[in-house]
Amino acid sequence: MELRVCALYPDQMNIYADRGNIVFLQRRCEWRGIGFAYSSAGPGEPVDASGADFFYVGGGQDRDQAMVAADMVASKREDLAAAVESGAVLLAVCGGYQLLGHSYQLGAEKLPGLGLVDLETVREDGPRLIGNVAIEVDLGSGPRVLAGFENHGGRTYLGAGVPALGRVLAGQGNNGVDGREGVRRHNLVGTYLHGPLLPKNAWLADHLITLALERRYGTRPELEPLPDALEDAAHASARAAAGA
Ligand code: GLN
Repeated sequence: MELRVCALYPDQMNIYADRGNIVFLQRRCEWRGIGFAYSSAGPGEPVDASGADFFYVGGGQDRDQAMVAADMVASKREDLAAAVESGAVLLAVCGGYQLLGHSYQLGAEKLPGLGLVDLETVREDGPRLIGNVAIEVDLGSGPRVLAGFENHGGRTYLGAGVPALGRVLAGQGNNGVDGREGVRRHNLVGTYLHGPLLPKNAWLADHLITLALERRYGTRPELEPLPDALEDAAHASARAAAGA
């Protein structure tokens, strides 16, 4: 088996070393003898909806997002929509997450989004939402906790009936008001949890690897357990930092 990952705008959308999530996916595959194929799609480059099963976009500053937003809609929207509809994993972090929705309103400027999920992001008055965060999520195997760090000025509001990724246990989440964090649709996951999201939450990495391999090979693989003492310690530490 081989995990095929495609990173979107890895040079532009990589704040807080969000690219480290890709390295983590690679290691967890290699440690199990699963192949790992990496590709990327930058400005102007199309994506191959069936060539990869795991698409990834990291966070970015408003400036970075302004540079990629229109390009992403023009060069990648159709193929990414097809990929998500056919069960590909799409993991989008912070600035990347914001660009999955209809738009990101930045004062007088409105950045276009991919429109893959019904949500909008608005830069409102008020402080940036910064700090450690923990959320409770249920991706089908019972409640689990994701722990991480958030830093965003934009506030995201989900459309009616759109499922959040999780419920905020500690921290701010999508907008600091409604207690919701991130978004889910098919195998698309958007979240404000930054940087080493996957190293701090190895179970999520394995869950997403499983979904991506299932898309390619038609059956859901049973991933070999790994000795996760370091990952478990990182998770516990992130969770304690959030006070959850
Ligand atoms: N620029 C966006 C905001 O401030 C996202 C920031 C980020 O990716 N950390 O809301």
